[in-house]
Amino acid sequence: MSLTNLSPATLDFLHRRHGHFIGGRWVQSASGRSFDVHDPASGEKIASCAAGDAHEIDLAVKAARAAFEGPWSKFTAAQRSVILWKIADLVQANFQQLFELEILDNGLPTPLAQYVCGMVVPEFFRYYAGWPTKIEGATIPAAPQGKPPNEVISFTLREPIGVVGAITPWNSPLPMVMLKIAPALATGCTLVLKPAELTPLTAMRLAEICQEAGVPDGVINIVNGYGADAGAALAAHPGIDKIAFTGSTEVGRAIVKAAAGNLKKVTLELGGKSPVVVFPDADLDQVIPGAARACFFLQGQNCMAGTRLFVHEKIHDKVVEGIAAIAKSMKLGPGLDPSSEFGPLISAKQRDRVAGFVDAGKREGGELVCGGTSPNRPGYFFEPTVLTHMSSEMTPVKNEIFGPVLCVQTFGDNDLDRIAREANSTIYGLSGSVWTRDLGIAMQMVRKIDSGQVSVNMHAAIDPAMPFGGNKQSGWGREFGKEGLEPYLKTKGISMTW
Ligand code: NAD
Repeated sequence: MSLTNLSPATLDFLHRRHGHFIGGRWVQSASGRSFDVHDPASGEKIASCAAGDAHEIDLAVKAARAAFEGPWSKFTAAQRSVILWKIADLVQANFQQLFELEILDNGLPTPLAQYVCGMVVPEFFRYYAGWPTKIEGATIPAAPQGKPPNEVISFTLREPIGVVGAITPWNSPLPMVMLKIAPALATGCTLVLKPAELTPLTAMRLAEICQEAGVPDGVINIVNGYGADAGAALAAHPGIDKIAFTGSTEVGRAIVKAAAGNLKKVTLELGGKSPVVVFPDADLDQVIPGAARACFFLQGQNCMAGTRLFVHEKIHDKVVEGIAAIAKSMKLGPGLDPSSEFGPLISAKQRDRVAGFVDAGKREGGELVCGGTSPNRPGYFFEPTVLTHMSSEMTPVKNEIFGPVLCVQTFGDNDLDRIAREANSTIYGLSGSVWTRDLGIAMQMVRKIDSGQVSVNMHAAIDPAMPFGGNKQSGWGREFGKEGLEPYLKTKGISMTW
């Protein structure tokens, strides 16, 4: 599909002069600065967007504070539920536009974009629509100042934390924004969001959809711009009560430092380098496509990606052969072409970074089984790549590549402690999977792997109700599920006598 085949709604949206969504209105940057947005499948410019800085962040924080203390605080829990449900309906009603914008912005293939825009995002809003009426405090059998039970009552109130600053990455733009907006609305918070400068389109459209669903002006504000300007100003702003950040571990550290000024609360969803551990009794018909998907899903630009394959030496050749056959058969192409199975990387910089890691792997003794190059075509494509003979000290094994590069290591015994030590040998602890028919081995490995998520005979099992987040340097806190609400709430303890 060329750009001329896009729906009129998408074309209209692309042609706009995009600004910032502050207090329910689109405004341009005071500085007049802007940045271009590109289609990673062609490298062509598709839109232009205002670049905000501390000035727009300040305006947005003031709008969010006014909405938090004003109109939004009058909404009942049931009214917030209705709005969240309505957002889900409107996401589905605007499916074609969101689907096209998400693909143009990020490059993901058609089936995945259909799943994301048609299922994942609406279902997530519906899941959180169920929560506002169930956020409860507790009565506590306390005896402050030695008072007997008939002279005192103690209880807790769960209150929204206030104005949230959210900063999101480019690798899955709409779901990343959904993960911040849904719990903020469910708990009664307001939000200033800075989307990734590489992929701002669906965040802006979702803000309008929220307004259409009945979210009052100022509850959701979007400031576009670069991380070093708008992002840093948001993380440091004294009017922000909590930062919800998703992105790299390196920037996560900068956020923590910036947040120290007013000791705002911080949750961090950071990088990963997840292990996929395959025991010799595993069902290879499940393992081979499962391990290929674990690594190559979203072109490997996925925090949960299973990029370190630990496979028993008995089945190593068969598993590697099978994964390489899948990798070689994948049709590279623009996401808007429904026959494409594997999209581009996000930028030329990212493609060159991935190529650099593959070169380092080969230099350090890895063997290239397939991929490793960029096809000669427009856009930022890079072939799905498999490197064998890898070990935990090698550069591509230690670092998050954020590209389609699978590093294969072997083991020859059933020493679960040793295998787990290898699996845990990076600074990350986000996801991981174990593949075996032996439930005893599976449960022992589940406990030994130090990650926020471990799946058995599947990888990266995501669901709105399942908490997700990182151990070690993969983050602080959890998103999804009931636990995903907690960072947006604060607890007040009350004791009353008469
Ligand atoms: P990034 O850290 O470079 O950027 C993320 C966001 O932070 C962007 O909006 C960027 O503009 C902003 N930013 C950059 N510098 C900033 C600063 N100094 N202050 C404030 N904001 C700043 O990450 P990326 O390249 O956009 O995304 C890829 C990373 O995100 C990977 O490491 C990936 O693992 C991680 N990620 C994690 C999860 C998770 O749930 N754990 C999910 C998706 C992506």
